[in-house]
Amino acid sequence: MPVVNSIELLVVGENANSFLTKNADILLEAVENEHYIKGKSTNGYPIIIYFCAPNELGSKLFKYTGPLDYINQFVERNKNISFKDIDDENQIFVKSNTPFLNPVLRDGILNNESWWQNPPNDLIEVEHIKGIVHNHSTYSDGIHTLKEMADYVRSSGFEYFVITDHSKSAFYANGLKEDMLLQQIEEIKKLNESYTDFKIFSGIESDILWDGQLDYADEILNQLDVVVASVHSILKMDIDKATERLIKAIEHPATRILGHPTGRLLLSREGYPINHKKVIDACAANNVVIEVNANPLRLDIDWQWIPYCTEKGVKISINPDAHNKTSIHDIKYGVYAAQKGGLTKSNCLNTKNLLEFSKWVESKKS
Ligand SMILES: [Zn+2]
Ligand SMILES: [Zn+2]
Repeated sequence: MPVVNSIELLVVGENANSFLTKNADILLEAVENEHYIKGKSTNGYPIIIYFCAPNELGSKLFKYTGPLDYINQFVERNKNISFKDIDDENQIFVKSNTPFLNPVLRDGILNNESWWQNPPNDLIEVEHIKGIVHNHSTYSDGIHTLKEMADYVRSSGFEYFVITDHSKSAFYANGLKEDMLLQQIEEIKKLNESYTDFKIFSGIESDILWDGQLDYADEILNQLDVVVASVHSILKMDIDKATERLIKAIEHPATRILGHPTGRLLLSREGYPINHKKVIDACAANNVVIEVNANPLRLDIDWQWIPYCTEKGVKISINPDAHNKTSIHDIKYGVYAAQKGGLTKSNCLNTKNLLEFSKWVESKKS
């Protein structure tokens, strides 16, 4: 889940007493009975530890995984079957004559009826990601240079890197004036001459202005490989205006990716309200990819909208929005969030290899 409220563990082959005796140092306080211990971890998180015998591991694992609503629906659909004392969780699905449901999908199934019989398979995995899209460098507010970023991405085993520094309206983030952007394009050309198995693509994270316009004239935008359009300012808009503003930007011929659609910051700032369906429909109509911003404070677009994106044929790009080298590894948080929405490898943009991604860049919007 994007926000974790508590940690629950299932321990097999132990009882609460012996577990506590051996692990007294992991809990601040504990209330115990023979089936569980409730307490707080030493770093303050609520934690529940359940116990079970080996012959009931499957039953208990199923019971304690995923939301209660899912468990209740599952039991309701299989009224005449007993799921007690099963050692292998898979057997629960065999008994109910339904496909195994990956634990990450057990929240999403509540809003996706078809997953009961046909859960998404070939779910996106971290190792499917071939290129790193949406990144910043010292040209704007990043802390590593373009070359440092690109070399790090390459040495981490990826095939391409899309640099999208901030645009000129983002003065607080040292956004690029036209001359600096053109200078960056020249530097990219030079750097690319030194790579044989790797490529940097030029780009920009263009601010979406209050009226939905992008931040540069078309002749500048047209020189870039990838334009990510994102809202960074004037976040307090009503839902109709905010939706209209995004749709205007989505309809711009240069826009290829919609960045962090709601601007939310988990635990601190709610995103601005948008009509998600209208925004996703506009992306479908204009062949625009939607970002799952993989920064763990964002995870925006929320995973719950991914099934609708899939239904409409809108691809998802899982982007770290890295402002330093090592932040590219935030990609994994985006992947985990996207898995919850059932995102498959083929519906993700940056699972494309360098050749396929180059073709996507060349295709522009059609
Ligand atoms: Zn941004
Ligand atoms: Zn960014």
